[in-house]
Order: sequence, then C-alpha cells, then structure tokens
Amino acid sequence: MIPFFDLTKQYETIKAEIDDATARELKSGWFILGPEVRAFEKEFAEYIGTRFAIGVGSGTEALHLALLALGIGAGDEVITVPNTAVATVAAIELTGARAVLCDVCPDSMLMDVASLERAITPRTRAIIPVHLFGQSCDLEPILEIARARKIFVLEDCAQAHGATYRGKRVGSWGDIAAFSFYPTKNLGAYGDGGAILTNDAQLAERVDLLRQYGWRERYVSEIKGTNSRLDELQAAILRVKLRHLDAWNAARRERAALYTELLRTVTPPREMTYGQHVYHLYVVQTRNRQSLISNLQSRGIGTAIHYPLAIHQQAAYANLGYRDEDLPVASRLAREIVSLPLYPELSLDDVRAVAQAINELA
Ligand SMILES: *Cc1c(COP(=O)(O)O)cnc(C)c1O
Repeated sequence: MIPFFDLTKQYETIKAEIDDATARELKSGWFILGPEVRAFEKEFAEYIGTRFAIGVGSGTEALHLALLALGIGAGDEVITVPNTAVATVAAIELTGARAVLCDVCPDSMLMDVASLERAITPRTRAIIPVHLFGQSCDLEPILEIARARKIFVLEDCAQAHGATYRGKRVGSWGDIAAFSFYPTKNLGAYGDGGAILTNDAQLAERVDLLRQYGWRERYVSEIKGTNSRLDELQAAILRVKLRHLDAWNAARRERAALYTELLRTVTPPREMTYGQHVYHLYVVQTRNRQSLISNLQSRGIGTAIHYPLAIHQQAAYANLGYRDEDLPVASRLAREIVSLPLYPELSLDDVRAVAQAINELA
C-alpha cells in the first residue's frame, strides 16, 4: 500500500521537537498574537527574503487581506489563472472585484505571459501569478508588464514555500505575497494558517490592522478589519517545521527526479531552468487518466487530481462567462493531469514501485 499522502510519518520524525514546542506554548497561557507569532513572522520573513511577514488565519485570508491592503474592491479586475485552488479566485471575489482568467503554458502549466497581456483592461488593478505545484511562474516578464501599467503583483505562494526564481525565493518578487500553512503544504501547520509577506512598510501595516479589527491599540478601530490571526500554537509548530523545510524540499526534489528518470508512458512535469521547483505535487499528464487511476488503485497506490475542474468549469464561477475554448490549455490539463504520491518521507523504493506500476500499464 502506497497512500497518496501520509502526514503521520512526518510527525514521527520530529515528534520530540514538536511536543517540546507545543508543551512550552500551552504552559505559557498565551494563545493569540504573542511571542511565538512574532518570532515566526521574523524567521519566515528572513527565510523568504522580505522585510515583513504577517501571520493570518489561512492562505485564503492571506490572499483576501493582501488584496484589501492593495485597495482592491468593486469595479476592479484581478487577473489570475484557471488551474488553481478555488481559494485564489474566492479571495478576489470576496473583495467585490471581478476575477479575470488568462491561460497557462503547456510545458510549465503556469501563467502564460501572452495570454496575460491580452486579458489586461483599463480596470486591471492586480495580477496573481500562482506558483502552482511548487514551481515559480516566469516572474520577470509578468513584473515588467505590471510595472509598465502600474498594476500590482500579488504572488500566490501557497504551494511554493522555498521555491526560487533566478536565485531568490518566491514571495520576495511581487508587491506582496500570500502563503498558506494548510497541513499538506510544504510548510504545513497542524490546523489552518497563512502569512502575508512584503517589503512595503505601509502595506505591512495595513495588513496588520486588517487582521484584527483595524486595531493598532486594543479596542480602537482605525479602519474596518476582521479577525484573521495565526494562533500561537500553530506559530510554535511552524517555527519547528521551518527549520526542516530545506531538507524536506530537497527530499521532494530527489523523489521527483527519480520519477522523471523512470517514467516512460506519461508526460512528467517540466522543470523550468529559471528556478528551483519544490514539488508540492508531482503532476503528470496522460490521455488515459481514468484507467491509470483505477489500475493504480487496484494495486494499493493512491493518486489525486489537482484540480479536476478548472475555475471556469466550476458552477460557482459560471458567472465569469468563460468557455473551455477561451482557456484551451487549462481546460485540457483539467482532463489529463494526475498527481502521484510525493512527500519527503516516501521511500525511494516506493517511488520505483509507483513508476514501475505506471510503466507496466501501457
Ligand atoms: C492551498 C491553497 C490556497 C489556500 O490556502 P488555505 O490555507 O487552504 O486557505 C490558495 N492558493 C493555492 C494555490 C493553494 O494551493
């Protein structure tokens, strides 16, 4: 049996450190916005390479509050891609802005710059490149297009903790960036969590106010805000896990390289030369997806699809008005992609067994 994902194995490898950190935190009696969150924010900002990090309740809220901090709302348009977690588009729509979709490149499966340019209108206020599956988008042309038109860039880094672009980590390139610490992400909490990163002191301050009712001083609301806070317990856990992130990402890359070397009958993910992929997911393409999934399942091998429906194919977003022909690459990918088991604790023998099972199917 090779499950698609197994979070229990990772806990076993860091149990002593986690138990120590959580016991210390529980004994402190401080649970919301305290020393652990402040320390994690500092350590994570240093790791990514930004001046500021602000811990919030989830990746979705990180995207939402980042957009609000940029001043985006009704009447504005925000461009992103159709092959992303629904969270990216949910966050746009929560601000009252309209989500505009551009297509992706067939090789990288990431934002297509030519399609992005065609999607820009006078109402475009922000672009959200999504570093999907652990690989950076080609950021330089995106940033160039945005800067020439005074459009903000919000990086969705929910799947790309530690990934680099031209030697610098993703999350340090745009005006502002959103991370998720959902348990299965490369850096995951034991519950929900997220963070917003930026080099802009004004944006950082606005996000800090927005996450807690617009308070600078307790009970004094300077602006309208909400409650979206990273809690102390999750921050204590994330501080432990951050110390292991590089080693875990290296283990993911090693397993991905072995898959790519061995797989013969499906299209492996393409690593772009401009940066380092951290393989949040190992996603192959095949025309025979259903038979591949059921065959692997009968051998006890788990798979998943990220995501079976592109955003424009979701009933909730039919209002956006796109047909599959408008977004042909993302629409085809939704039919042909499959995610294989990949996590740092997966054994290399298990990788070989999965690859062999797939090669034997053809
Ligand atoms: C997971 C994810 C999010 C949302 O994060 P949550 O913490 O689950 O709210 C946003 N964007 C992408 C690309 C994601 O994978």
